[in-house]
Amino acid sequence: MTGLTGLRAVVTGGASGIGLAAARALAAQGAAVAVLDLDPGGVSEPLLGLQADVSDGVGVRAAVDLAAERLGGLDILVNNAGIGAVGTVEDNPDEQWHRVLDVNVLGMVRTTRAALPHLRRAAAARPGTAAVVNTCSIAATAGLPQRALYSASKGAVLSLTLAMAADHVREGIRVNCVNPGTADTPWVSRLLDAADDPEAERAALNARQPLGRLVTADEVAAAIVYLASPAAASVTGTALAVDGGMQGLRLRPV
Ligand code: NAD
Repeated sequence: MTGLTGLRAVVTGGASGIGLAAARALAAQGAAVAVLDLDPGGVSEPLLGLQADVSDGVGVRAAVDLAAERLGGLDILVNNAGIGAVGTVEDNPDEQWHRVLDVNVLGMVRTTRAALPHLRRAAAARPGTAAVVNTCSIAATAGLPQRALYSASKGAVLSLTLAMAADHVREGIRVNCVNPGTADTPWVSRLLDAADDPEAERAALNARQPLGRLVTADEVAAAIVYLASPAAASVTGTALAVDGGMQGLRLRPV
C-alpha cells in the first residue's frame, strides 16, 4: 500500500516517543531504518541505532553518511529530534534561546544538508521515493501560552519546511511536516511528573483535548509514514495536523 518496501530511512531523535514510533512504523512497512539519537542505547533490531547530536554538524554528517553506507543509500529523512522550553519571553535567557533554536531548527538544517546528496541520488535512481518529513507542532501557529521559545522554534520549522519544499521540488525531493498536538510520549510524562499532582495534571490535560485524550505517538507515526511514502508522491509543502482537532475545531461558540 505505502510502497516503502526496500526504501532506506533515517529518523533523528528516533530512540524515544514519536521518533521511535515512526522508525518502527517505517520498518513495519518494509523500510530499512537507521535511528540517529543522542542516546540510541535502547534501539533494537531491525532498527540500526547510531549515536548523533544534531547540534554537531560534523558529527551528524558522519552519522548520516554512515547510515547511508550501512543501509545502501538513503531515500527518506525524518527530522524529528527536538527539545522543549516552557515560559514567556521574560523567562528564557538568551543562552536557552540559542540552545533550543540550535537543536530544533539548525538541527534540521544540518541533518538535511548531510542527507541531500544521498536523497538526490535516490530521486534520480527511483523517481518518487525521496522525501523529508519534519516534526513540527501545532505550537507553530496556535498561540500557546507559556511556550514563546518553543513556538518560535516550531514556527521556523514550518517556514523551513515550505522553503525546502520549494527549493527541492524539481529535484524530485518532497518536503512536508507533521503538526502533532499534545502527544503521549516520555517528553510529556516528564512534564507531568514534575507537577505537584501528576495524576490530576494528566486528567486535566486529557480534559482539555477535543477528543478527551492525548494523541498517541503511533498516530503521529502513521502520518509520518504516509508523508514519507511514495503513496504521497503528489504531496509536498504541507503540514498535516495530528492534534485530535485541537487547532481546527471550535468547541465553544465564539
Ligand atoms: P522525546 O523526548 O520522547 O524524544 C525525543 C528524542 O530526541 C529523544 O530520544 C532524545 O534523545 C532525542 N534528541 C534530543 N535532542 C537531540 C539532539 N540534539 N540530537 C539527537 N537526538 C536528540 O520527545 P517526543 O515527544 O517524541 O518529541 C519528538 C518531536 O516531536 C520533537 O521535535 C517535539 O518538538 C515534537 N512534538 C512533540 C509533541 C508532544 O506533545 N510530545 C507535540 C508536538 C511536537
